[in-house]
Formats: sequence, structure tokens, C-alpha cells
Amino acid sequence: MKLLEGKTAIITGASRGIGRGIAQVYAQHGCDLALTYSSSVEAAKALEEELQPLGVQVKSYQSNAADFEQAQTLVDHVLADFGKIDIVINNAGITKDNLLMRMTEEDFDAVVEINLKSVFNMTKAVQRTFLKQRHGSLIHMSSVVGVKGNAGQANYAASKAGIIGFSKSIALELGSRNIRSNVIAPGFIETEMTAKLPEDVVQGWRNGIPLKRGGQPEDVANACVFLGSDLSSYVTGQVLNVDGGMLT
Ligand code: NAP
Repeated sequence: MKLLEGKTAIITGASRGIGRGIAQVYAQHGCDLALTYSSSVEAAKALEEELQPLGVQVKSYQSNAADFEQAQTLVDHVLADFGKIDIVINNAGITKDNLLMRMTEEDFDAVVEINLKSVFNMTKAVQRTFLKQRHGSLIHMSSVVGVKGNAGQANYAASKAGIIGFSKSIALELGSRNIRSNVIAPGFIETEMTAKLPEDVVQGWRNGIPLKRGGQPEDVANACVFLGSDLSSYVTGQVLNVDGGMLT
């Protein structure tokens, strides 16, 4: 059953990893897709070509999620190209890990701007459209690290915890207009990035997870289908852990 037929979604950071996985599953569910990336032009074009045969409208846009003006311009372009926006998935994110002792101001600011300010930028940019049409689903990608903290990731954890506070506040502000705002907190998701790590290290991580495996981008994507579709029409202000039971 196609759960997103007739809907249009913006997915930020869709050229690789989890964002790419969400785009693939959304396309299978009939969703038209506006995909963003930072610099991976080739990968974004390849994904467009992969998804178009599924019969959905797909277009990729180079847009820096950390830039307020670029978020406004992106939404203008998507409205011109697609006519409407039903779902925004704020997925773009980076890490610049270090112990506080060695963390630079630049590394703190970059992570907060790309991971957290981006969520403000996109939500502001799409708010008017959502208010006018009296519906919209916002899905923000946090992390178990934003819920629990992690040594060596104070900047990342702060940005991901900030997303949770932001999302709950927006859920309260915009609920009366049928605009929903929810967070997904993935655990250890196996992407191209983790494929480069030694197998024994990755196996050690897997052993520590109650479900005894790392997550796949598809696991996160399926949670995004639920939160983007009408199946979750009475769900807002929530944090959904997609972590194999890691935080249990
Ligand atoms: P990834 O493979 O590194 O992909 C990051 C994506 O974000 C890429 O498409 C990248 O575009 C884009 N991006 C980076 N900076 C951007 C910017 N300034 N503006 C627009 N797009 C930008 O990351 P991932 O592992 O899939 O993670 C996706 C999200 O899930 C992130 O928010 C991450 O924090 C969160 N998360 C991941 C895990 C995990 O285990 N992987 C766990 C918990 C949470 P380019 O290709 O052009 O650089």
C-alpha cells in the first residue's frame, strides 16, 4: 500500500546515508520529492535518475541548510516546481567530534549552525505555506546522543538536544493549525561512513544493542513514513527512538 501518494516532501541532506534511504522509501510510497544536498552534485543527480522511474516527481537542489536566506529561496523554488509542500524532513547534519579540551569555537559553531539552526531556518521558511494550507508534518532528525549525551560529542549532543526542545515548542505553537512536529532519534545506523570502520569495532557496537544489529537507513525511513503519512495524524511533539532498544 502506498502511504504517501499525492504528497510532496522536502528532505534535506538526501544525497547520502539516511536521507538517501528516506528518499528511496518515500518514492516507493508515491511521494513527490524535493531533495537537498551541500556539495554532492553527482550523487544527487544519480538519485534523481534512480527514483524518477518509480513515477514520482523528483528534483534536487544545492542548498546550504545553515543559511537562512537559502532556506527561504529553496521553499520558493519548491513551491514553483511542485505547487505545494506537505512534509519537511530536516535530516542534514554533520559531526566534528572532540573532547571539550580540544574542541574549537569554529567546530562548535559549525555543528550547531548546520544541525540546529538549519531546523529553525527550514521551519520558518515553510511555516507560511503550512499555515495557509492548514496542514503539514515536520520531522526532525535528532540522535540518541541528543537524548543521552556522549563524551567527545558535546557540540553534536547540544545541537541534537536543541532540536528536541525546538520541535516540542513548535508542536505546541502550531498544533491548533493542524501542523505536526516530531523528532526521530536514530541510534547506530550503518551507512557508507560506518562501512569504513573495522568489522570488529562495528560488531562490538552491534553486540551492545538489544536487537543485536545496527540499524539500516530503511529502518529510519519507515519511521519517517509513519510520521509523514496520515497514519500519524494524532501524533505531535514526540521523540521516536529508532535505535534497536539502545536507550532502554
Ligand atoms: P551523512 O551520510 O554524512 O549525510 C549527510 C547529508 O547531509 C549529506 O546528504 C550531505 O550533503 C548533507 N549536508 C551536510 N551538510 C549540509 C548543509 N550544510 N546543507 C545541506 N546539506 C548538508 O549522514 P547520515 O549518517 O546519513 O546522517 C543523517 C542525519 O541523521 C544527520 O542529521 C545525523 O546527525 C543523523 N544521525 C545519524 C546517525 C548514524 O548512525 N548515521 C545516528 C543518529 C543520527 P553532501 O553529500 O552534499 O555533503
